[in-house]
Amino acid sequence: MPPSDASRLPPTVEQTAAPRGVGRDLGGRLLFLGTGTSVGVPVVGCGCGTCTGGDPRDSRTRTSVILGLPAGHLLVDTTPDLRTQLLRERVGRVDAVLYTHDHVDHVYGLDDVRPLCYASGKPLPLYCEERVERRIRKAFDYAFETVPVPGGGLPKVEFQRIGTEPFDLLGARVTPLRLRHGVFDVLGFRFGRIAYCTDTNAIPDETWPQLAGLDTLVLDCLRPTPHPTHFSVREALDVAARVAARRTLLVHMGHEMAHAATSAELPPGVELAYDGLEIPLT
Ligand SMILES: [Zn+2]
Ligand SMILES: [Zn+2]
Ligand SMILES: [Zn+2]
Repeated sequence: MPPSDASRLPPTVEQTAAPRGVGRDLGGRLLFLGTGTSVGVPVVGCGCGTCTGGDPRDSRTRTSVILGLPAGHLLVDTTPDLRTQLLRERVGRVDAVLYTHDHVDHVYGLDDVRPLCYASGKPLPLYCEERVERRIRKAFDYAFETVPVPGGGLPKVEFQRIGTEPFDLLGARVTPLRLRHGVFDVLGFRFGRIAYCTDTNAIPDETWPQLAGLDTLVLDCLRPTPHPTHFSVREALDVAARVAARRTLLVHMGHEMAHAATSAELPPGVELAYDGLEIPLT
């Protein structure tokens, strides 16, 4: 029997979307999707040793993590590398997104959540401060049009406002941590005995007590030399020493931070994270 006309048509978006749940279950783990600074590493057009050396740990997409919480996968930030990161790590499900701040390298991959929305059939909740919501509504204005767009294909999201008060999300407690990032404030987050503090160059007085008793501190460290909005190696090591977590993992690194050479100089308990690294949630 010849195939009907309908069977020759290209599949619809709904048909091609992965069924919900295909991909890895990250239950009880935190996975580093990206560990690089805003331009990524290698840097386009750069011939330095880090960018051309071929160490896979020096291949850094933009900084983001995803956590396997009791009731689902929580993505922290939507980087411009989001699609590549989810495919690389075989993650097929995101149940909520939590935002640190509104910089391009942390937000502009939001359109890549579309297949996740097709699969779940419901809007993806975005937990963020007002500044981030404003940026998203501006940058992705097409997603908020009230007139239906022919063909659809829009990211479907809903905003959940957060501040510095702790809240429950996907079966876990999230404690926002106020951090300074140059001239403005961003959020880090504490999940149990892990704190995630990217894009910061100063920890305000009120936040230090919230970093007590950590097992793992994930901390911004851009490069060896000072920078107006990110911690340098010296500054990050000072913070690591004061927090005294069992383990400190550095993220948001530029090409000045060759993995092997920099690791050799770090004190015990401080390491460079790398894309694909997984740690247990504690
Ligand atoms: Zn950043
Ligand atoms: Zn380079
Ligand atoms: Zn930033």
